[in-house]
Amino acid sequence: MPVPFLDLPAEYRRVKADIDAAIQRVLDRGQFILGPEGDALEQEIAAACQTAHGIGVASGTDALELALRALEIGPGDEVITAAFGFIATAEAIVAVGAAPIFADIDLATYTLDPAAVTSAMTSRTKAILPVHLYGHPCRMEELLAIAAQHRLKVIEDCAQAFGAQIVSKRVGSFGDAGCFSFYPTKNLGGYGDGGMVVTRDAALAKRLRLLRHHGDRGRYDHQVIGRNSRLDELQAAILRVKLRHVEAGNQARRRHAGHYTQALTRAGLADRLELPGELPGHHHVYHLYTVRLKERARIQQELAKQGIATAAHYPAILPSQPALAPWNRGAWPRAGAAADTCLSLPIYPELSESQIEEVVRALANAMRSA
Ligand SMILES: *Cc1c(COP(=O)(O)O)cnc(C)c1O
Repeated sequence: MPVPFLDLPAEYRRVKADIDAAIQRVLDRGQFILGPEGDALEQEIAAACQTAHGIGVASGTDALELALRALEIGPGDEVITAAFGFIATAEAIVAVGAAPIFADIDLATYTLDPAAVTSAMTSRTKAILPVHLYGHPCRMEELLAIAAQHRLKVIEDCAQAFGAQIVSKRVGSFGDAGCFSFYPTKNLGGYGDGGMVVTRDAALAKRLRLLRHHGDRGRYDHQVIGRNSRLDELQAAILRVKLRHVEAGNQARRRHAGHYTQALTRAGLADRLELPGELPGHHHVYHLYTVRLKERARIQQELAKQGIATAAHYPAILPSQPALAPWNRGAWPRAGAAADTCLSLPIYPELSESQIEEVVRALANAMRSA
């Protein structure tokens, strides 16, 4: 039985009646941009993230870029972020005219190593942009201490980590701003592009509302040069339905991760693979279940032959991407090791235990034939 990497149609089938009704409600109302669904979603997400304000925007990338702009980070400024992750984070920094300064990761969490952040600091450093990669929260206590000591802003990239927390504090509520993506494959995903910035700061929220809507304070009263980056009413209505299921979805992901770890250990693979872990007090939401192994290309091919879809998140470190060549100064050995060996196995709420066993069986076969 083949196992796909994701199964979005299966998720839709589970919530179809509510989604269809929500879409119909928006169509009947005839208000498609900046309306009651977006307002309600902003409040619901702000509450879920333990922050006061939520500002819907057009994507996770825009959430990062507008948060940086609203915090007045721009030309001449440096922003420290992880060398390993998705390019959108670095793109947002470059888009506001600042320089992305890459720091190495900690291989226990695949997120920013606080010691590497301290080493990357210069007199131009204005902010830290930690990414809660794969759904594991960054070591925020240490990062916040560094930021406080050096008076830096903190913008959290929460795109992969909706619902993750440290003790009982949600990601997105630690920094000056938390940025979410509602890209369809994320733990809280819409049926198109979308994003949100959350913040406890009312003045920052106000600036973000201006920036996402042409700097408009009222009707045709343009205070600043902004842009068009709004979350539409259809997406907001869909996301309000999906928000009601995200907690259960994250619990299912955690169960699946536990099953993977048990089954991989039972199959005798635990000493030939690096399995994902969870720091004490950190609540991982397993956007991805990513292992590290040797001979990734060959193993992926063997798995594909057996109908198992996998992916490498991410096969190259960010500073080695051609688009980021101007900022490719330094050495990031742990990020490099992760890029060379990472392999993500299928994980989503609808995955079954028998599918997990199928994946593990196929992986054991592939590794035996090494
Ligand atoms: C998905 C993602 C983004 C960008 O979100 P979009 O909504 O696709 O623009 C940013 N950062 C990380 C870590 C992501 O995974």
